[in-house]
Amino acid sequence: MFEINSPLNNSWIPVAVDSDFPIQNIPFGVFKTQRSEPRCCTRIGDTIIDLAALAENGYFDDIEMDSSVFYSSTLNDFMSCGKSVTSKVREQIALLFNSQNPEFPNQQKSEILYPADEVLMLMPITVGDYTDFYSSIEHATNVGKMFRDPENALLPNWKHLPVGYHGRSSSIVVSGTDIHRPKGQILPAGVENPIFSPSRLMDFELEMAFITNRSTELGDSIPVENAEEYIFGFTLFNDLSARDIQKWEYVPLGPFLGKNFGSVISPWIITLEALEPFRVEGPVQVPEVLPYLKTTGKRNFDINLEVYLQPEDSSPSLICQSNHKYLYWNIAQQLAHQTINGCNINSGDMYASGTISGPTENSFGSMLELSWGGKKDIHLADGQTRKFIQDNDTIIMKAYAQNGSVRIGFGDVITKILPAK
Ligand code: CA
Repeated sequence: MFEINSPLNNSWIPVAVDSDFPIQNIPFGVFKTQRSEPRCCTRIGDTIIDLAALAENGYFDDIEMDSSVFYSSTLNDFMSCGKSVTSKVREQIALLFNSQNPEFPNQQKSEILYPADEVLMLMPITVGDYTDFYSSIEHATNVGKMFRDPENALLPNWKHLPVGYHGRSSSIVVSGTDIHRPKGQILPAGVENPIFSPSRLMDFELEMAFITNRSTELGDSIPVENAEEYIFGFTLFNDLSARDIQKWEYVPLGPFLGKNFGSVISPWIITLEALEPFRVEGPVQVPEVLPYLKTTGKRNFDINLEVYLQPEDSSPSLICQSNHKYLYWNIAQQLAHQTINGCNINSGDMYASGTISGPTENSFGSMLELSWGGKKDIHLADGQTRKFIQDNDTIIMKAYAQNGSVRIGFGDVITKILPAK
């Protein structure tokens, strides 16, 4: 049987050693060129592959599907075909571009393949509903220590359920979108009444988000054991946060305007299938969780996460190295909990993990934690320091699972913070 994820596979399309997109990855996205309308695509090395053009040339004829889903400006219809179809498409791409198979004739290459630097990558999905979880025990503990009580950093519910809130989908945008510093009410230290001001404490949150591929009926719950069947894949997610707006507004109902002025994702959705070789067990959960949340086996993923801060006219500095495997609550538990009350879901919904911090100080996934509430300087390679994001700083996030020679990457999430409008 053909093993798509085998490290032995090579493509007839050139792939650099450090590429995020070897033939084992086969991510999905949406692109357009100066001449063409948006279409669904995948990528090998630095080559964008037009899936609609592959279909036009008959390469998906053996798969029972409506290939018009590829002529779309989003992946929603493709994802909604379900895994029985999307997995076959992935397998067919892995075969077509395998170095054991012949290269396409030049005429077809010119119709199907594009250099990555000649296309524009678009927002890959229309996000329906958006949930932001809070599933890293290190992050929740750090924030609890800073904002509340160091002795009781975790609230009593935290180890019993994956805490989350419903966010806003309209402001989720694709990498490369600049975000203006938000304005709002803040309460500076020592002041009795709030003032209106651009946020002074702009931050990123290093997260990953999963996307669902089908709907459920109102009243239904997704069993934790089946939850991954409803998940198409992951994207890398920068949940920009204004800590001063957040701090003043969040009691009693939770995050609001401090969180919804821009969240940025990578242009690529990486399938769960591509991440199969990188499964690891999550942290042991004590106390034992209720039966509807109980999972067995390897439910976390060994995905390296990095954050770089690049001041204007300078080079990027690595300021955080974390990993998806640290998450206390896994994606199956998150989706089971989301629906346990009968809340229905749809294809194209997005579920972010919450900031993914690790156990060491260099693995904290936000500047709030890296600067410990603004008490410590974060040192950059060019000698500058930061506590929070300054105007015209660019935040670059990277994610990749690596297994010997194979690197399954997510593409960069690049966000420049512009001055307040
Ligand atoms: Ca968040």
